[in-house]
Amino acid sequence: MIRRIVGIETEFGITSVGGEGSRSLGPDEIARYFFRPVVERWRSSNVFLENGSRLYLDVGSHPEYATAECDGLRQIVAHDRAGERIIDDLAVHAEQSLAAEGIDAKVYLFKNNTDTVGNSYGSHENYLLDRSTQVRSMATTLLPFLVSRQLICGAGKILPGTPTGVGTAEDEGPAFCFSQRAEHMWDGVSSATTRSRPLINTRDEPHADSTRFRRMHVIVGDSNMIETTTLLKIASTRLVLEMLEAGVELRPMAIAHPVRAIREISRDLSGTRPVGLTDGTTMSALEIQREFLAAVHRHLGRGGWERDDRDDVERCVALWERVLDAVESGDHDSIAGDIDWAAKLRLIRQVQGRTGVDLDHPRLAQIDLTYHDIRPGRGLHSVLERRGLVSRVVDDSEIERARHSAPETTRAALRGRFISAATRAERDYTVDWVHLKVADGTLPTVALTDPFAAEDPRVDDLIAALGR
Ligand code: ATP
Ligand code: MG
Ligand code: MG
Repeated sequence: MIRRIVGIETEFGITSVGGEGSRSLGPDEIARYFFRPVVERWRSSNVFLENGSRLYLDVGSHPEYATAECDGLRQIVAHDRAGERIIDDLAVHAEQSLAAEGIDAKVYLFKNNTDTVGNSYGSHENYLLDRSTQVRSMATTLLPFLVSRQLICGAGKILPGTPTGVGTAEDEGPAFCFSQRAEHMWDGVSSATTRSRPLINTRDEPHADSTRFRRMHVIVGDSNMIETTTLLKIASTRLVLEMLEAGVELRPMAIAHPVRAIREISRDLSGTRPVGLTDGTTMSALEIQREFLAAVHRHLGRGGWERDDRDDVERCVALWERVLDAVESGDHDSIAGDIDWAAKLRLIRQVQGRTGVDLDHPRLAQIDLTYHDIRPGRGLHSVLERRGLVSRVVDDSEIERARHSAPETTRAALRGRFISAATRAERDYTVDWVHLKVADGTLPTVALTDPFAAEDPRVDDLIAALGR
């Protein structure tokens, strides 16, 4: 796999449940308690941390964690999970602050994409592309992949009856779907994120030298809990991008109506429903995914291992195959330890088996939600993980390291070193993805326009000048 910068942004759902006699808090109020330690330390609710990540309060009171720039598969998984730990620490702290003020409340953070009243919030993937890449024409080939990718990396969701959108007769009852986000996408490719919710956002903001790089912003993914699902999502997308850049010939599969297709695919667990293509023919989601996987096999067969990630890539490709086989055979339990939607579906089926409740029973809605609760030992994913029922990519020590240390192989290493040094020297700093600056303006601002560069003498000088 060729070297590529990737970052994942995750917006978390936040809510609280008051103990007996305690008043309930609105989302803005909980978010305020949640961000209090951040604001106390940095006087802002939009900060960069020593592990190179960005933590901020997004519109709609959603805390957001954006990982530092990663170029390794295990690395991005570790940094994504480190974000959960950082967010959970703040949640525990918020509970303590509330308790100190006599408010008995539990604070819940969900790494999911929909709240109970139907709002959606995202998980964005960022992939670095060469400036010469034509994003719009690449998108035509990429869209069929992104539209059908939910089979291998959806987080699963119970859709209530009479859903929005297409509404054919068979869609009327409640149904278990592959994807959380599918119902909330409204456009194929566009430069707006919130207004039209495209699958790919083309806003040209590379956070890097714009003569050399682009940043492709994929808006369509679900937030993932199981490490192997995150791994598969990122690895498969990177492999497809790499093939497209290499000009690998693929059967034309341009989707006629991407927004309709993504909803239809999400609602069909068999993966066989025909999806209309622009040439008037149809293909199923399974067929589209098989086509991409076969092309990836051919591509990898020609070599192209630039880095030492062969084991991880082979693991992903084997898993990809196994997931498609499971969708085809209907043996969903065979991937319940690896893929979020199947893990969630197994939990739902187990409760249904014991109690006989229908899919629209509130108890199952609760499972759908608490699967994503990030509190260790409370969230259902975390319980499965502790029992060894879901697979891992990294271990707890790697997550712990990612919580405090930036990726060592990208520009994030420089940001991390600078932030740590400024903190030790008790100097305020202003940082964004590109710039490092001591807030009082006494030292030169350094612009890191190459996200691949993990060393820079200007940063060494800046740190030396901080005097610690
Ligand atoms: P917003 O979400 O506020 O609209 P944004 O899309 O710029 O803004 P951030 O939340 O700041 O996003 O997160 C940017 C993400 O992009 C981070 O995960 C970061 O690691 C990643 N990133 C930064 N530079 C690049 C790059 N050149 N190529 C790919 N990813 C990048
Ligand atoms: Mg963001
Ligand atoms: Mg974004």
